[in-house]
Amino acid sequence: MSVTQSPQEGKKISTPQKILIIAGTRPEVIKLAPVIRELEKYPHHFKPHVIVTGQHRELLDQMLSSLRIEPDEDFKVMEENQALGILSAKVLTHCHHLLARIQPALVMVQGDTASAFCAALSAYYFQIPIGHVEAGLRTFNKYHPFPEEGMRILIDSISDFCWTPTHVGAQNLKQEGIADHKLFITGNTVIDALHLVLHQTKNVVSQNLKAIDFSKKIILVTVHRRENWGDNVQAIFRALITLAAQHQDVEIIYPVHFSPTVRNMAYSMLQGVRGIHLVEPLDYISFVHLLARSTFVMTDSGGIQEEAPALGKPVLVLREVTERPEGVTAGTAKVVGLASDQILNEAEKLLTDPKEYNSMANAVNPYGDGNSAKRIVQCLRHHFFHDCARPEPFTTNQS
Ligand code: UDP
Repeated sequence: MSVTQSPQEGKKISTPQKILIIAGTRPEVIKLAPVIRELEKYPHHFKPHVIVTGQHRELLDQMLSSLRIEPDEDFKVMEENQALGILSAKVLTHCHHLLARIQPALVMVQGDTASAFCAALSAYYFQIPIGHVEAGLRTFNKYHPFPEEGMRILIDSISDFCWTPTHVGAQNLKQEGIADHKLFITGNTVIDALHLVLHQTKNVVSQNLKAIDFSKKIILVTVHRRENWGDNVQAIFRALITLAAQHQDVEIIYPVHFSPTVRNMAYSMLQGVRGIHLVEPLDYISFVHLLARSTFVMTDSGGIQEEAPALGKPVLVLREVTERPEGVTAGTAKVVGLASDQILNEAEKLLTDPKEYNSMANAVNPYGDGNSAKRIVQCLRHHFFHDCARPEPFTTNQS
């Protein structure tokens, strides 16, 4: 084993540890990017090896280039409308060969997809340690969101490092019997990514948004979750149509996910409706700047529920339950369910009742302080090299 000098600590440390990082979807790339950047600051400690599985091919390429990440390998497992079982088998097979070849010191996965679980399972078969970024989120309903709730529980149960964003996640993990030494409250790395973009990039209005009248109130909408496909999506869209008809001073902007199921429905119901702008998915930098300019957000996304409170943007959560209760507790997010009338009613309140709006438009950071990636990497340095203490946990006023 070769020995090198660490410039940070002036200590002798062993060969850099290979950290295998696996990402398949847009939010995984966004939330792992700050960790990859942080690992790269310690070239004598760590050698990150980044794999993309390629589920959401176009979204992934867009995110990788906007966050300037070059993957080392691509599994290319994407096929349209692929069953979860088929996708899982492919990812598991690819991971088997990869792990046998590169034998990393740790496999790092993020969040709640089937591919994240399969990568973790593969590492488990090889008895390689597993680190889970964004551990501990729960709705306690295994089909909402589906398959994410199940995937999270399964990943956490075999992980050696459960990096959970908040004390709520830590509580959930403890209740499932996860030992204290595996648990680290880090904050959510999405807030690190948000900070990076806001501080290091300029707002260049994307070509996709040239038709928007920014003197009007902007409502930012995203809808794509699998459990909302079908009747729920239609109910959401009916509410948007009525909202646009009743409020001429509003521009509704909906970057439509590439998922064909949602896309077909969005274009068949909403295309050409005055006040509603269907645009292509935005690169992360454009999206964050648009979020910063919006009045409020209506979304079924997980990540956006975390980002919007940091910018003081009220969020109407288009779901029956959320695994991110911190925003609701902080008063910036409301779970409005999936009935058209109810969605419309809550949006109307935010447009017409300043008291209601102001009570939700508080900039709070229940999900992170921008130092989550630092805590995760510190945790790994402590584990592999003992050249620093375990990180202090992320805390908020709510903790
Ligand atoms: N996002 C983006 N461009 C868009 C829509 C969303 O960059 O057009 C980002 C958003 O800022 C958030 C992430 O994508 O960080 C959320 O991804 P998504 O809603 O696909 O997944 P979820 O968070 O629900 O798992």
